[in-house]
Amino acid sequence: MALPGKEPVIAHVASISVECADCGRNRWWRPDQLKRFGVTGNTPLAALSGRIVCSACRADGLPGAAVSIQAAFIDERQRVRSEARMLNDREVPLEGSKRA
Ligand SMILES: [Zn+2]
Repeated sequence: MALPGKEPVIAHVASISVECADCGRNRWWRPDQLKRFGVTGNTPLAALSGRIVCSACRADGLPGAAVSIQAAFIDERQRVRSEARMLNDREVPLEGSKRA
């Protein structure tokens, strides 16, 4: 089993900054706004660069692919705590079914 948080995915980020090197536009996207790019909560951050393009450049007929992407992560402590709670919820019924 892979370590949790080893490969950051969209579900771990609060928002994504997309800065276009061609036109200089910079905007923040919420993860749910990235669905139009085929991005889901399971999409690795590393896969974003090929998918997200600058819509302003696209409107001008340019590729719009010269974007740099930054992710703002959800508060680390909050994330660890909610993962721990999920694990607990999962372990209790698992153990019960093993003994039964
Ligand atoms: Zn642009």
